[in-house]
Amino acid sequence: MAASGAPRPLVVANWKMNGLRRDGIDRARALVLLARNKGQIAGEVVLCPPATLLHEIRAALSGSGIGLGAQDCHAAASGAHTGDLSAPMLADLGCAYVIVGHSERRAGHGESDLQVRAKAEAALAVGLGPIICVGESEAARDQGQSVAVVRAQLEGSVPSGVAGEALAIAYEPIWAIGTGRTPKPEQIAEVHAMIHEFGKARFSGGAAALRVLYGGSVNARNAAEILSLEGVNGALVGGASLEAAGFWTICEAAGGPVMAAQGR
Ligand code: PEP
Repeated sequence: MAASGAPRPLVVANWKMNGLRRDGIDRARALVLLARNKGQIAGEVVLCPPATLLHEIRAALSGSGIGLGAQDCHAAASGAHTGDLSAPMLADLGCAYVIVGHSERRAGHGESDLQVRAKAEAALAVGLGPIICVGESEAARDQGQSVAVVRAQLEGSVPSGVAGEALAIAYEPIWAIGTGRTPKPEQIAEVHAMIHEFGKARFSGGAAALRVLYGGSVNARNAAEILSLEGVNGALVGGASLEAAGFWTICEAAGGPVMAAQGR
């Protein structure tokens, strides 16, 4: 539950490359039903389906209060970039957010910090909130380098001179993604505290409104503990977001009672 004065929590579902039309629409509708039947929550909930589903999921979410995001964007607004999608296209489709710099993009597509920053800037230019992912490898963690590695990624990937509330940063240790393993609570809190400190120096204002999400094997059982940690302002959820009831439990763990809600 968000501490008083903390920004409104944000829970993001990253469906990755999962779901044909029928699966995705059914899952989105199930979430809308849960939101309707179980009552409004204070946190903000965003679904990031595969790009093929964005249009139809947007319709399924209409009027529900659940937002739409994409999983990546190109840094250019348009042009000869076969297979890519630009930030203006995603905004045009009704997205409010876009994930950039996910470790699967950094590893699988060789994306550098500089490219991630350019993508984040492209998103900001059209009013999309970039969710910028950072996180250390297992080897770096074993060498006690988590904070240093993440700090270097922030330096390279996060635009400067913007307001803290315009974006979110997701701390996702690579070794925790999809493995069922999570860092110790004090390790999560240490990295989140550093990211919040980084934001104070980096942003033009609104650093207190920066949302720092934790991602990496969050599920319905561990969400309450992780989301109660100091400096954790929400979650980026992969595998556990593919099942509606479990994902909604995570959203409730982040949101707290609606009376505590603060506008974004
Ligand atoms: C992710 O890939 O962003 C993620 C957090 O995955 P998972 O929840 O499956 O670890």
